Amino acid sequence: MADVTTQAPVLLDGKKVSEMYKQEIHAEVLEMVKEGRKAPHLAAILVGDDGASETYVASKVKNCETVGFKSTLIRYNSSVSEAELLAKVEEINNDPEIDGLIVQLPLPKHISVEKVTETIKPEKDVDGFHVVNVGRMNKGLPAHISATPLGILMMLRKYNIETKGKHCIVIGRSQIVGSPMAILMSRDANPGNCTVTVCHRYTHNLTEIVKQADIIIVAIGLPGFLKGDMVKPGAVVIDVGISRVKDETKKSGFAIKGDVDFDQVAPKCSYITPVPGGVGLMTIAGLLYNTLRASKGEAFTRSF
Ligand code: NAD
Repeated sequence: MADVTTQAPVLLDGKKVSEMYKQEIHAEVLEMVKEGRKAPHLAAILVGDDGASETYVASKVKNCETVGFKSTLIRYNSSVSEAELLAKVEEINNDPEIDGLIVQLPLPKHISVEKVTETIKPEKDVDGFHVVNVGRMNKGLPAHISATPLGILMMLRKYNIETKGKHCIVIGRSQIVGSPMAILMSRDANPGNCTVTVCHRYTHNLTEIVKQADIIIVAIGLPGFLKGDMVKPGAVVIDVGISRVKDETKKSGFAIKGDVDFDQVAPKCSYITPVPGGVGLMTIAGLLYNTLRASKGEAFTRSF
């Protein structure tokens, strides 16, 4: 039998897979409209002029158009008061024309992310950050799942990657990626049913632990952190990291790097996501999927 280390890995193509999901979503939207129902409508609030946030929101709005959703972008400058922002969230909560709302993070320091998140009506919280959605997800009940972990599940499913009984190691424990990811990979579902270990900045012997993984999901924001000697041959590697690294050869002056040292790791694994072109695009697919479910009134009735 050929040694897996000598085979090229399968590239988990976020562009291709997100396109497949977008086509499926678009077909559903066309069907809804044909039946006389309104198209799903996503509202996005953007505060300030952070370059990365501008890019993310623009991409979300553009993707809404691609699948036939309506979208509304609401912009505030960074001096907007917390009260004004919360009032806008309440207004959208009560607007029957709008199905989903996202507030792009980060927010200026004088605004409580917690307050804003908890003010969004859970059914419209298509980012899946509200405590009701987090709690329901933890209990295995239908809920809006945070878009990045959801996008990863969508990717694993389309590639038919076996997860049952595997040891999945999640590096990073953020509320939006690492923690929900660990819960989702351990729950009794497909993808899921893994034995999960969570590593973070205080983990001792991280290399020794990560070497045991069949599936590694890394979300820490340290470019090139995961090296070849940390990966068991044949492992599945999912790179969530997005960091802007100075690069004079690029027009923008920076390159986008993931948390994985791709050149070292790729030759060792069975499947790997590239950065860019991997998880980032799947996050948008996850957001569109949640918005579609919200518009169909399925936020709390249908699981992924
Ligand atoms: P975060 O930035 O909030 O937290 C970082 C996490 O990494 C913490 O849990 C910390 O314990 C852990 N960590 C830090 N240093 C570590 C070390 N040396 N060893 C082990 N663990 C360590 O996390 P986040 O918001 O999930 O973001 C992580 C990365 O993912 C960032 O690059 C972010 O831009 C990216 N991200 C990408 C997407 C996407 O769509 N692809 C979505 C969200 C976040």
